[in-house]
Amino acid sequence: MNKTRQYVECCEHGRQHATYVCQHVVQSLQDDVPRGFLSAEPEADDERPDSWCSACEEMVNKTGGEWNDESDEFAGVKLICGACYDRAKELNSGHTKKWWQLWK
Ligand SMILES: [Zn+2]
Ligand SMILES: [Zn+2]
Repeated sequence: MNKTRQYVECCEHGRQHATYVCQHVVQSLQDDVPRGFLSAEPEADDERPDSWCSACEEMVNKTGGEWNDESDEFAGVKLICGACYDRAKELNSGHTKKWWQLWK
């Protein structure tokens, strides 16, 4: 899949790079409850890969580490601005295990 870099107009941060996270990560920005933060392998020019919470990770692990309709629906991926993404990452990463650590 060839994703072109998109922009999003954030009411807090103005025009920013668009990033994709699961709805639970978005929720954590609203209620300040850390839910974990796991990321796809970053692409060369993308320092903000698609990310999701521990609950979504569990869903995906149940299906052998592959996203399917069920986990997709559960994640309810949302588009947020890069600055919000950074905040979410910081907020949630206390909880975070890197995806490659989950296999141990
Ligand atoms: Zn999630
Ligand atoms: Zn923002």
